[in-house]
Amino acid sequence: MKFQNMIVLALIAVFISLPCVSAAEKDELTSEQIYEKRMDLYKKVETITNVPWHYLAAVDTYERGLRRARKDRSKEDGFISIYYSEEEWAGTFNPNKEDTHPLSIQMFGGVGLDGDGDGLAERTNDEDVLFTMAHFIEGYGFDEEDFRIALWEKYKRDQSVRIVHGHSLVYEKFDTLDLDEHAFPMPLNYNYSYKNTWGDRRGWGGRRIHEGTDIFAGYNVPIRATAYGRVEIKGWNKYGGWRIGIRDLDNIYHYYAHLSGFEKGIEEGSIVAPGDVIGYCGSSGYGKPGTQGKFPPHLHYGMYRDNGITEWSFDPYPSLKQWERKAYQDRKKKNKGSCKYLR
Ligand SMILES: [Zn+2]
Repeated sequence: MKFQNMIVLALIAVFISLPCVSAAEKDELTSEQIYEKRMDLYKKVETITNVPWHYLAAVDTYERGLRRARKDRSKEDGFISIYYSEEEWAGTFNPNKEDTHPLSIQMFGGVGLDGDGDGLAERTNDEDVLFTMAHFIEGYGFDEEDFRIALWEKYKRDQSVRIVHGHSLVYEKFDTLDLDEHAFPMPLNYNYSYKNTWGDRRGWGGRRIHEGTDIFAGYNVPIRATAYGRVEIKGWNKYGGWRIGIRDLDNIYHYYAHLSGFEKGIEEGSIVAPGDVIGYCGSSGYGKPGTQGKFPPHLHYGMYRDNGITEWSFDPYPSLKQWERKAYQDRKKKNKGSCKYLR
């Protein structure tokens, strides 16, 4: 075989192998490399369809969380998590559930499209899936309200629309996918204490179980956002008193209750980064608005996961421990670099 032909064949082989990423190969990539690959895909599809990358990132991120939270959806093979069932992709009455021919898929009313131009519409191909989603969004228009309508048509659920729209605003603001960082909700230089009380019985307001961790501290100790996210709720509730709910990019709702007050400028819709002060430790709650002092001041911290159908509480204690440990390590590193005599 001629040398040039061999090069051509080698190039073709590389080209063909590009979209197929095995799970093992993906496991070897750092999270930065995965974000880079994902961003390349979003930007590529944005160029073709004009659908902003942060809309695509928002839907994909939401669906990644659903795959993690649900047993009826397998983990994605590639970099994109958007999920289509066989019926949705190929068409309900398509006798071939694994159809990849764009024309017959279209004939049977399936949504699957060929995004990478290889002539096939594959349900497990990142570019095909992302292009199919972008094409759907494009059909409603490009401004935020259009996007919300497209999301309603896709999910038929207010909460899903709110979460995905929120994700898009977070991505737009920070202009990166690398938003994994977390923070412990209290600064380490204040006195605080907590232990695992998740699932304990609570008496006030009928029989309930304790859906969170109580972190005891003095009045007005700053309370900080633990993740990147968007303030979903702020105000009074009879159990939690002055409370804030923040939705992060894992679709997790972080609930901060019994605050003495809120940080200035924090409103519903505010976008926060881990470590941002959102309010102050207090003892509000267990009554009508303004009630306080019925128990010692503490932060009640809860975490709730959304799976696209419902939302449930899970134990935040392991996460708190992990973020606290990380904060101590970071402080240690920082102190190592500074001169002892000057402190
Ligand atoms: Zn509590």
